[in-house]
Amino acid sequence: MADRFFPNVFPDFVPEASPSTPQEDSLTKLLAMPYAPLSERFKRAALDLKETIIIETWGFPGQRIPDFTLYCGVLGTAFLLFKSYQVTNNKNDLNLCSQIVKACDSASLGSSDVTFICGRAGVCALGAVVAKHVGDEQSLRYYLDQFEKIKLPKNLPDELLYGRVGFLWACLFLNKHLGQGTIPSIYTAAVVDEIIKSGRAMGGKGRCPLMFEWYGEKYWGAAHGLAGIMHVLMDMELKPDELEDVKGTLKYMINNRFPSGNYPASEEDKKRDVLVHWCHGAPGIALTLVKAAKVFGDQTFLDAAVNAAEVVWNRGLLKRVGLCHGISGNAYVFLSLYQLTGNIEYLYRAKSFACFLLDSAHKLISQGEMHGGDRPYSMFEGLGGMAYLFLDLVDPSQAKFPAYDL
Ligand SMILES: [Zn+2]
Repeated sequence: MADRFFPNVFPDFVPEASPSTPQEDSLTKLLAMPYAPLSERFKRAALDLKETIIIETWGFPGQRIPDFTLYCGVLGTAFLLFKSYQVTNNKNDLNLCSQIVKACDSASLGSSDVTFICGRAGVCALGAVVAKHVGDEQSLRYYLDQFEKIKLPKNLPDELLYGRVGFLWACLFLNKHLGQGTIPSIYTAAVVDEIIKSGRAMGGKGRCPLMFEWYGEKYWGAAHGLAGIMHVLMDMELKPDELEDVKGTLKYMINNRFPSGNYPASEEDKKRDVLVHWCHGAPGIALTLVKAAKVFGDQTFLDAAVNAAEVVWNRGLLKRVGLCHGISGNAYVFLSLYQLTGNIEYLYRAKSFACFLLDSAHKLISQGEMHGGDRPYSMFEGLGGMAYLFLDLVDPSQAKFPAYDL
């Protein structure tokens, strides 16, 4: 088990601007820097990485696109460029982003995948929002029109990467950026009804109120399971009994977690306390618990989120860089708790994970001590996610796990 992650040897806390001594290593020096110059370092590193990612994932307009998705494909590069534009206001980033989305649009026309992260909804939603920023009314109308044409198959699963909530997230993204009502609630309410119906059919009294399946397994995590589904449902308009079921589902998870504070990957897999990933395990669930603490104002959720974050701190310095099952994704747990509690110890923890990446990721990958990811420049499994995290650290009070927190 120990070889999945690096041991956490960070000091409990290093105050910013503490005087450095000559014997300190480069990582400790980074942690002791005042925030302003450190955030400049993150920004610089992110912008350099962005250039490499563009070169590696995007050649020229009109090229064949083997993977259009945000998860591991070129839409991830577009999403990173949009973030970079938001941070630096560099119009070149916005224009290139818009070109890439256009290519993704052609590449995804025949796709039956409907979600933000892995499907056509991500292309159309990002396309519309970018068109708005460019001031291109015609493209804005085109992408919204295309979005409305997306049909949800009857047998669609409910999870985030390929299922109903992954489509709903695209609706939320559009409403956030283009104004409430862009996708009317009467439309999303029908999808919510389907999710609740399917969750209640598999869950029920005396058990977990809502339960779902993906490829025959009842997952718990953010990518395919309960955490991701509850996460999106909490952003939707729910009836009081539906809200109660969401609350009850999260409490069921808390009551049935591992003694360590970590969470099983699925109902079927309650023995292996191994995975500490956004996709499976404490990190993705912690983000959902932080949201539950805000939505329900219930201390149980905050306490559970704090416990889950402890697991991430101790076992979350994974030997991978990405968002889905890597250090970058795990760092967002601390950022979300920092935003909720204002406790700077959580900012320190986020900084520790990010400074570790800034200081060592390239070296460790080239030495083979860290896995560079099957798609090494992608958003969810590679350096794209790391660059996004660095850009988010320019203003940690606003950081949001990409394509998951709104
Ligand atoms: Zn993963």
